[in-house]
Amino acid sequence: MKIFEQIESEVQSYARSFPRIFNRAKGEFLYDEDGNEYLDFLAGAGTLNYGHNNPLFKEKLLEYINSDGITHGLDLHTRAKGSFLEAFREKILKPRDMDYVMQFTGPTGTNAVEAALKLARNITGRENIISFTNGFHGVSLGALATTGNSHHRGAAGVSLSGCSRMPYDGYLGEGIDTTAYLDKVLSDSSSGIDLPAAAIVETVQGEGGINAASIEWLRKLEQVCRKHGVLLIIDDIQAGCGRTGHYFSFEEAGLKPDIITLSKSLGGYGLPFAVVLFKPELDQWKPGEHNGTFRGNNFAFVTAQAAIDHYWSDDTFSGEILRKGRYVTRRLEAIVARYGEGNFTTRGRGMFQGINCVNGEIASSITSKAFEKGLIIETSGAEDHVVKFLCPLVISDTNLKRGIDIVEEAIRETCAGEDAIPEEFDYFEPQRLAS
Ligand SMILES: *Cc1c(COP(=O)(O)O)cnc(C)c1O
Repeated sequence: MKIFEQIESEVQSYARSFPRIFNRAKGEFLYDEDGNEYLDFLAGAGTLNYGHNNPLFKEKLLEYINSDGITHGLDLHTRAKGSFLEAFREKILKPRDMDYVMQFTGPTGTNAVEAALKLARNITGRENIISFTNGFHGVSLGALATTGNSHHRGAAGVSLSGCSRMPYDGYLGEGIDTTAYLDKVLSDSSSGIDLPAAAIVETVQGEGGINAASIEWLRKLEQVCRKHGVLLIIDDIQAGCGRTGHYFSFEEAGLKPDIITLSKSLGGYGLPFAVVLFKPELDQWKPGEHNGTFRGNNFAFVTAQAAIDHYWSDDTFSGEILRKGRYVTRRLEAIVARYGEGNFTTRGRGMFQGINCVNGEIASSITSKAFEKGLIIETSGAEDHVVKFLCPLVISDTNLKRGIDIVEEAIRETCAGEDAIPEEFDYFEPQRLAS
């Protein structure tokens, strides 16, 4: 089909890595027009944690559409929104002892980030924001200023101001605590870093190359923020909604962020949806100050509620993610030990892991070989040097193994020659039974 070359802009990106016409999807699989099946380890860059067209959510959505439920309602109160808010409060916030209010922004992650930054600046009366090396927070101008990637920043065309970059955990090598540097510059009135309104951070950097901050670093970052009266914004757009094993990626560290952004898998069905959560005392917005035509997506309220009701009413799903995550860790460590020759390393947490191939060419050779074998998997990081495993969290054990087997084969062909013999791995822990 030539139409894509003829009139779709050159800005297209994922389509270049996977040049097929896709027309059907189910669970962890995508299908192209010729009927080829692909195992999807990209999963909408973390938007399809519950798989493609999850049948439980589809049923609710079809019911809602059939009964002429509200499709578009600006920010009017709707039954669907109310039910979603109740489910979120009862099943997500209350069990975690979290007291937050929710703002519905335009339906993209970057819009939630814009709102979070504006709110922090308005509350504190300060302009500066601390963000971190390799952080990714979206591509609208405010969010882009906090994003590290030079390819994206270069497209801005205006100066990206109001932000000071600090080294993320591990940026200066092992054993260097970069929060000590942050503490130092915030303590020194002549450091040249203006006292910031907030620090915005991902607990695991998705687009930046699956860099996982240690639990200890995250705790120290929170302490430094508290010490200097700086608001802590956790951008949980990619790492949240279960990806690391818990609903919020900062739960393990026990953080109490002032502001949280969520999007990507929040809507559950792949529908656009984004929110900002903040502590009630920070709710200093005036009506409509940050607005948008598509504030809250009623279809997404329905599917987001279904996701919460079905997967987050108890900790069974969380246990399953952690179990699969341990399998991924063991597999990737074994692959790196076998084929990495001391160059490759593993990174990440839960079902948010990657293999750092150091070199973008090797990583892209691995992902294109994997594609030939029926696996869709992408790279991330400054040089696109990290192979990023982002499969749906609901993937079956068999297909999780199959996807990793394909990557292993692709790595073997890339690095060790085609005749090296793969090891057989079969060490899944027993599945947890739903209660
Ligand atoms: C994807 C992403 C965003 C931006 O979301 P969009 O919907 O693409 O605007 C922001 N922050 C993080 C951490 C992301 O992964």
